[in-house]
Amino acid sequence: MKVLVLGGTGEARALAAALHTSPEHTVVSSLAGRVREPRLPVGEVRVGGFGGPALLAQWLLEHGIAAVVDATHPFAERISASAAEAALIARVPLLMLRRPGWASRSGWHWVDSLSEARTTAERLGDRIFLTTGRQGLAAFTDSTRWYLIRCVDPPEVPMPAGAKLLLDRGPYTVDGELALLCDHRIDVLVTKDSGGPLTAAKLEAAQALDLAVVVVRRPPPPPAIPLAETVDQVLAWLR
Ligand code: NAP
Repeated sequence: MKVLVLGGTGEARALAAALHTSPEHTVVSSLAGRVREPRLPVGEVRVGGFGGPALLAQWLLEHGIAAVVDATHPFAERISASAAEAALIARVPLLMLRRPGWASRSGWHWVDSLSEARTTAERLGDRIFLTTGRQGLAAFTDSTRWYLIRCVDPPEVPMPAGAKLLLDRGPYTVDGELALLCDHRIDVLVTKDSGGPLTAAKLEAAQALDLAVVVVRRPPPPPAIPLAETVDQVLAWLR
């Protein structure tokens, strides 16, 4: 059974590794190609957009794909919508692998968008740690506040005039995050509800320092697509 894993996440890499060693499966992982030096999954990998749902459907048929697992990031809305449509067109079963979001804590302010995150964060403090990724930075470009912006690759849009850029990628440790927050005298943390352990250390650190945390809610998944939360659940679905 040939399985396409739409990736770009730790879960997608874990799933590819599990399928790679399974005698019943062949796995092809797909990456968007956004990150300069991506962490590659084991097994076959293809890189780049498909060109929309119709071309993705065509790709599935041409490559004899028997099942698709959308293991992309919970905020990667367009590829998930595209996969849902392509699976219908090509009549290929589709499952979404979505890690659970983080459990809310006291001191968290939930918002629905990056622009709302900015308004809320700037109301709560002056020195803001922005960890929402380089996409969507445009919502902060014209801010006059002080931002520490952490992302994997350099932003493609101008940062706020007073921003400091930190190029880094997880996993992070609580001690490392505590030191970062203290060194930069951060008073507000802004994050997406990405969930998962790789970037959770900042939440522990923020709580230990009693900082305000602004959390961007996840977009809803495409309707009527079955959901799994773990690699084992995906393997059971494939069986
Ligand atoms: P997006 O807005 O949902 O997708 C934009 C376009 O990029 C899609 O329409 C598709 O192009 C292409 N694409 C996205 N993921 C792809 C994949 N796995 N394989 C092939 N093409 C893909 O996605 P995004 O938010 O830019 O995220 C891009 C990738 O980074 C995703 O794979 C995601 O898992 C990963 N990622 C995203 C975030 C985040 O916060 N958004 C965080 C960590 C990792 P076509 O329409 O041409 O097919």
